[in-house]
Amino acid sequence: MESRVETGIDYTIARRRMVTEQLQAHGITDRKLLHAFLTVPRHIFVDPAIGSRAYDDCSFPIGHAQTISQPYTIAFMIQSLDVRSGDRVLEIGTGSGYQTAILSLIARDVYSIERLGSLAEKAESALSRIHTGRIRIKIGDGAAGWRHYAPYDRIIVSAAMSGRPKALLDQLADDGLLIAPIATESEHLMLFSRDGYRVTQQRLKKCAFVPLRKGVSP
Ligand code: SAH
Repeated sequence: MESRVETGIDYTIARRRMVTEQLQAHGITDRKLLHAFLTVPRHIFVDPAIGSRAYDDCSFPIGHAQTISQPYTIAFMIQSLDVRSGDRVLEIGTGSGYQTAILSLIARDVYSIERLGSLAEKAESALSRIHTGRIRIKIGDGAAGWRHYAPYDRIIVSAAMSGRPKALLDQLADDGLLIAPIATESEHLMLFSRDGYRVTQQRLKKCAFVPLRKGVSP
């Protein structure tokens, strides 16, 4: 993948530092995942003025009161979800498209839903500037999933839900896994696993995501 992408600045060193200091130092070991983080130019998914700070250990505003997630949060979620090369993955909350790009280098197909039309368009335009795997994005309310392409081997939700993700669990394949931030009295990342009709859930850790909102908006 072209690391300079139009800006003319090579951020390879910033990416390598992000991977060793923020990911490997905190327990991210999946080789394919680490390689994806070394490859995807995070700076093209944020305001150009942010420059190399795009690789810092934090989230950044991407407009419309939304944020690009912190690198470690994305890595932790994908590693917990155990995404494999043959997987078809559904992502709820495309946002900047950065996590979509990372997922596409690991999985077979990524289907991503964003409720804000302008963010979905920006994400598509950033993604078109780099080499990625197979990605389809639609503007919609992700809480309902994307029935047309179901079932999915893996589902990842990037905005906090207020209860059990029922419609999404219905679109999860047998042996499928779903990770989502669930906010009740407090907010936790929850991992759901389907085994036939049985769904079990595991609380992974505390977290803080923007809330999942209803409906779509331009
Ligand atoms: N992983 C993304 C995170 C984006 S923030 C990134 O790193 O860029 C969460 C995103 O979820 C926002 O873009 C928000 O608009 C979107 N979102 C919130 N509710 C949604 C819903 N019901 N359906 C689809 N997307 C939703």
